[in-house]
Amino acid sequence: MLVEDAKTYIEAFRNSRISREELRELQYKKLRRVIALAYQNVPFYRRRFARASTLEGFGFRSLEDLRTLPILERSDVERNGEAMISQNLINTLGSYSSTTGTSGARIRLAFSREYHAVTTAMTVRHLLHYGARPWHRIVSIWPPTSYWRPGQDRDGRLKRDTFSLSFPLGVLGRPLPFLKPLLSSNWDVERDAEVLRSMNPDFVICRPSNLRRIGRFLKARGESIHPRGLVLTNEVFTQTCARELEGLYGSEIFWGYGAAEVGPMGAVCTAHRGLHFNEDFIFPEVLKDDEPVGPGETGELVVTSLHNPLMPFIRYRLGDVVEMADGEACPCGSNLMRIRKVLGRKADWLMNSRREQVSPLTVADWAESSLGLADYQLIQLDVGRFLLKTSPDEAPSPSALQRLKQYLESTMETDVVVETSYRTPDEFWSKSRPVLSRVTLSR
Ligand SMILES: [Zn+2]
Repeated sequence: MLVEDAKTYIEAFRNSRISREELRELQYKKLRRVIALAYQNVPFYRRRFARASTLEGFGFRSLEDLRTLPILERSDVERNGEAMISQNLINTLGSYSSTTGTSGARIRLAFSREYHAVTTAMTVRHLLHYGARPWHRIVSIWPPTSYWRPGQDRDGRLKRDTFSLSFPLGVLGRPLPFLKPLLSSNWDVERDAEVLRSMNPDFVICRPSNLRRIGRFLKARGESIHPRGLVLTNEVFTQTCARELEGLYGSEIFWGYGAAEVGPMGAVCTAHRGLHFNEDFIFPEVLKDDEPVGPGETGELVVTSLHNPLMPFIRYRLGDVVEMADGEACPCGSNLMRIRKVLGRKADWLMNSRREQVSPLTVADWAESSLGLADYQLIQLDVGRFLLKTSPDEAPSPSALQRLKQYLESTMETDVVVETSYRTPDEFWSKSRPVLSRVTLSR
């Protein structure tokens, strides 16, 4: 296994520097394999592909042929999740995990050992890229409800109030050349802050919302820690939040982007020109009305997982909106596809009175920079009706509410009513979605 892992690592590092032409060749080979395996082993895909005429006899001749295959929606996965797992390849199983569908139902996900090997290589590639070295202390803080990770008991129970070393375990017993304690947080800010302070880590990998709480807590006590880098993950965040974290910790800010269904999709560019997709691990498409968008444009992300034939995700519409970077060569030297930012879930976008969509991140940035909000949620209930939920100690003043109302009225181009309430502890600790909408276009 060591030799295999070493090969996977070497390939991963080589791939991050190869030319666009070599990359396209590599993607074509990987796509062809994953599509053929899905066709042979998963009846669900065989039925879907049968309707894509250019695929007769796997006549998959170029990367462009991928676009003849239907897009896999989240609702397809909710309805057919189990049928997407190949029983023929079940002996390649590495682990099961799960994610929550739009309806709130749990969807079982199956990952092969090959997937885990490449995921580990991607994790190491990202860490080295951020400047982490094997002798650095890297602490990752995960919510107690997170899926199985090294550091939990083998039977999946969480070791609450403890942190443990994932070295030399890595992912599924694979060696990870980093000393990477995993702090399984039970969302006790005081305790997390105490552990971080005593460990004095070089890097912290965590949700930005939690890092902000810990940083503010330490600051209020006149304490601080100064890791070299903070790796923000698992949530979208505003520029205001990133700047505050920079100020609180004095660290360089990095961010990664991934999804439960397909794994680590990309890492921030070291020249801070956006994020590069792991195009040797996933095949990303950024589409508007199902057509690829150009540089600087905004579109929906559709991904194909290249290393999990056990449960293939082929042309999967994740539901996230991303903004493409300029089309220029990146000063960091990477040729991997680059986006400027992730704008959040399409379902969260607000709608104004002219039925135009408004990015929730733009509204969140305003609310955080102008009103100083941090642990809040602003929900659009109707075009002109909003609900602001905060923690009791962040309840807005009447004048702050008035400013919010005025801002929303100019953005929504209509009269706006803002109601207020408090967040429940569960909402407080769940993955941060600061601004979202319950208004759908069909209305
Ligand atoms: Zn770059």
